[in-house]
Amino acid sequence: MAKLEVEILTLFPRMCTGYLGESILGKAQESGLLAVHVADVRDHASGKHRVADDAPYGGGAGMVMKPEPLIAAVEAARERLPGARVFLTSPRGVRLDQALARQVAEEGRAIVACGRYEGVDERVRSVVDVEVSLGDFVLTGGELAALALVDAAARFIPGVLGNASSAGEESFSGEGGLLEHPHYTRPPSYRGMKVPEVLLSGDHRRIERWRRREALRVTRERRPDLFARLTPTEQDLRLLEAADDEL
Ligand code: SAH
Repeated sequence: MAKLEVEILTLFPRMCTGYLGESILGKAQESGLLAVHVADVRDHASGKHRVADDAPYGGGAGMVMKPEPLIAAVEAARERLPGARVFLTSPRGVRLDQALARQVAEEGRAIVACGRYEGVDERVRSVVDVEVSLGDFVLTGGELAALALVDAAARFIPGVLGNASSAGEESFSGEGGLLEHPHYTRPPSYRGMKVPEVLLSGDHRRIERWRRREALRVTRERRPDLFARLTPTEQDLRLLEAADDEL
C-alpha cells in the first residue's frame, strides 16, 4: 500500500504537530497512510544550553542556525528514512508546485529541514538535495513551507482524501493544467445569489460541460500564463462561447 513517510526537522515541533494532527492529515496518520516524525533540531545541539543559533560572521542583524545541530538532525533522519531526498525550506528555493508535491508522494518519503531566524549556515546545503520555497515572500521560519509540502503531497496518496475523487482532478494537475471550476452547495438561493440552474438539472453531461467551460473561463481570466500553454479542443473553443442554455 502506498504511503508517505516524512521527517520534519524544526526548532519548533509543536508548530507542526498541531497542524498535522487535525482533519484529513490527522486521519491519514491514524490509518497509517501518512507517517510524519517531527524532530526537534535542538535535541542535536550540544552543551548545557543546547544552542542552535549564533551571530553571523561579518556582522549584521539577527541570528543564523548553526550547521552542526541541523546536519546531525538530517543524518539521524536519514537513518530512519534511507533514500529520502532532503529538502531545505528557503526563499531561494524552487517554488513548491503540484508537480513537486506529486513527485514527493511518488517517492513515498522526504526529509524537510526548516530554517529560522536569518536563515541557516550555508554549509548545511552540503546535505541538502533541494531547496524549496513557498513563494516570493519571507516567512519567520520554514515550518509553513514544510507543512505545505507534506499536505500537498499527502493528498496524492490513495485513500487520504475521503472520497473516490483524486488529487489528479484538481486545479493545476488534472484537465491539462486548468484551474478548477466553482463549487456550490445548499441552499439553492442565498441573499438573492442563485446556484446555476445547470447544477440542479441532474443532467450529468450538461454539468460536465458547464464545469469544463467554467474551468476554461476562470483559467483564461485569472491565469493567462496557464491558459497560453493549453491546447484547447474545438469543443473547448465552442464551450467558451456557449451560454448556459446552449450547453
Ligand atoms: N534572511 C533570509 C530569510 C530568512 S527567513 C532571506 O532574506 O532570504 C527564515 C527561514 O524561514 C528561512 O531560512 C527559511 O527556512 C524560511 N522561509 C522564509 N521564507 C520562506 C519561503 N518563502 N519559502 C520557504 N521557506 C521560507
